[in-house]
Amino acid sequence: MERQRARELFAAARRITALTGAGVSTASGIPDFRGPNGVWTRNPAAQRLSDIDSYVFDPQVRELAWRSRAEHPAWHAEPNAAHRAFVDLDRAGRLGALLTQNIDELHQRAGLDRDRVLELHGTMFKVVCLSCGAVTSMRSALRRVADGEPDPSCLECGGILKSATISFGQALDAEVLRRAQRAALDCDLFLAAGTSLTVHPAAGLAELAVRAGAELVICNAEPTPYDEVAAAVLRGPLVEVLPELVAVPLNESAPP
Ligand code: NAD
Repeated sequence: MERQRARELFAAARRITALTGAGVSTASGIPDFRGPNGVWTRNPAAQRLSDIDSYVFDPQVRELAWRSRAEHPAWHAEPNAAHRAFVDLDRAGRLGALLTQNIDELHQRAGLDRDRVLELHGTMFKVVCLSCGAVTSMRSALRRVADGEPDPSCLECGGILKSATISFGQALDAEVLRRAQRAALDCDLFLAAGTSLTVHPAAGLAELAVRAGAELVICNAEPTPYDEVAAAVLRGPLVEVLPELVAVPLNESAPP
């Protein structure tokens, strides 16, 4: 029933804006945070690594964070069928923009142009200095860690270095958020996939799209706070659900 409804909505949608979360990458071997096998579900204390105040004021947290960056499964992960589904949607000319909360760059590695992906929470493959703002590569910072610096500091100014990702307590890049809001306002269908829709302001983009008249389709294994306003909710694994949905051709008699 829901599946059929979602197929009808896709057939009628000329312009689709998508918001993805960690669930899109679990099939690539990168655990999410809040799913049944999520990093925080298994170890709630790990949340401290994602809090900007703990990071800035506690050198032990920084050392732990550097170790977890070096061991992050994204270094060895490959894109999966869910990532590739968005590439197909883009090639069909129907993807307005891909807004992602993921920091693993798997959407781009699957073949989406970098300018089609808005990384709301940044990327783990770059490092930023919290003092002077200099951006450098994660690879070279991790080389310094491997060479015996447990908490490397900025080579320009000596400031604290951090992955170029958004931690709790940090604001999103204003320009990225503005472009994401515009994409949410400018679509017929807003697809939220693999996200618990609990982290704001990213989750609020779904509501923004609905208020502007878009249909909301949610593909997520577990319930989200937005299920009630969604036109369809699909619970199956994303590697199956997304390729099936994006394969639904546009009904050319859909209103322009
Ligand atoms: P989340 O952990 O809060 O929610 C992920 C959701 O995906 C869960 O509700 C889970 O049920 C669902 N899910 C997991 N695997 C699925 C599958 N195969 N099929 C269908 N549903 C599946 O993640 P979030 O909403 O993205 O928010 C968490 C934050 O964590 C984000 O800010 C993100 O930056 C960060 N994060 C990113 C990565 C990554 O880059 N891959 C990984 C972990 C966390």
